[in-house]
Amino acid sequence: MEKACNSHRQPFLLLHLLPLPALANPAASPSQIISRFQQYLQINTTQPSPDYQTSTQFILSQAGSLSLESRAIEFVKNKPVVLLKWPGSDPFLPSVLLNSHTDVVSFEHSKWIHPPLGGYVDRRGDIFGRGSQDMKCVGMQYLEAIRRLKASGFRPKRSLYLSFVPDEEIGGNDGAKKLAYSDVFKDMNVEIVLDEGLPSLNENYRLFYAEKAPWWLVIKSNGAPGHGAKLYDNSAMENLFKSIESITRFRASQFDLLKSGLKSEGEVISVNMAFLKAGTPSPTGFVMNLQPSEAEAGFDIRVPPTADIESFEKRIAEEWAPASRNMTFEFKQKVTPHDDLGRPLVTATDSSNPWWILMEEAIKKANGKIGKPEIFSGATDARYFRQLGLPAIGFSPMANTPYLLHDHNEFLNKAEYLRGIEVYESIIKAYTSYIPPGRDGVSRDEL
Ligand SMILES: [Zn+2]
Repeated sequence: MEKACNSHRQPFLLLHLLPLPALANPAASPSQIISRFQQYLQINTTQPSPDYQTSTQFILSQAGSLSLESRAIEFVKNKPVVLLKWPGSDPFLPSVLLNSHTDVVSFEHSKWIHPPLGGYVDRRGDIFGRGSQDMKCVGMQYLEAIRRLKASGFRPKRSLYLSFVPDEEIGGNDGAKKLAYSDVFKDMNVEIVLDEGLPSLNENYRLFYAEKAPWWLVIKSNGAPGHGAKLYDNSAMENLFKSIESITRFRASQFDLLKSGLKSEGEVISVNMAFLKAGTPSPTGFVMNLQPSEAEAGFDIRVPPTADIESFEKRIAEEWAPASRNMTFEFKQKVTPHDDLGRPLVTATDSSNPWWILMEEAIKKANGKIGKPEIFSGATDARYFRQLGLPAIGFSPMANTPYLLHDHNEFLNKAEYLRGIEVYESIIKAYTSYIPPGRDGVSRDEL
């Protein structure tokens, strides 16, 4: 159901256009650009019941105004993946994919100074809205960059795809994952994927080459029950607390590496206790003179692909939940930070990966500065593409911006948003023009 859309300007708009100088394009004025971003922010795509119908219509209409090919694919009913295409002049060159998710996390309305679905712009130019950082900004910036490139007469050699995927905030299983493992995706012949990143407080943009894998660990201990007045070995509580002490020491050692600056947040294994379940309930609370026979605790652990997985697994089995102390463990979720061949799921950041180098150059060309390559501390859709062996770079052009993803009063400054469009313009130009060494991309046109 691929359909090419053409925009038909309304007659009144044409009349309005006539007296303006030839280069002035109202669609590209800052107020129009911000207004389109506001419209996207105002669509309620909040989990758990996002309005994907309206967001799909909005994106398709944007695609129409840009004469992009577009289609909405429902791999899962009512969870549309909107796919746009700007065809390249050389169909034999692999394509470029710019991914963004359309859903956002929920919010506590009363804690916001401006309505979370309002797209309000304050006097400083801060644009407020859920998704203003995560990541409706990026989805719209891709489109605005294309608008500018089209207006300048640029023509891509490689095809450029934009995917607007659902459900990233709840794991991406019905969104990016379905797309990545589809025949549609195979036909797209993608060679590089861009996805979301994080803001930085300083002037440096942040580029992410990998992400941590979530391991949700539950450890359980068993022991003979006994009178609360008696001291004896191997009670369930004692066994569990020996483990918690060991886990706490490990957590502190990782945190020390981070605090000392020897490792960045993305490079340490983070461990946080999620729950503690123990005690024998009574009508008034808990039985106080009984040592319980079972106890358990849950931990949210995030493992970077650079960690020594084998030795960490050994630590869990031998120190955190050893059978010798009547302990067992299970994972509620255990995402591997490795690919099918056991290699760490990372995108190369050196000259072996031309896309990384092109990205750095393109950002610098647009007067952007870049910090050290980083590992993303949370999970994003990029992992599904890296799992396929594709390079994927996490990037959201938000410098000089506080980290407000999933927080109250999420905003992005107007100037920063507009600057990001120029950065994407530079990246899209570089990526869709890239011909690998030894490949003659010109002669085919001439033949
Ligand atoms: Zn996000």
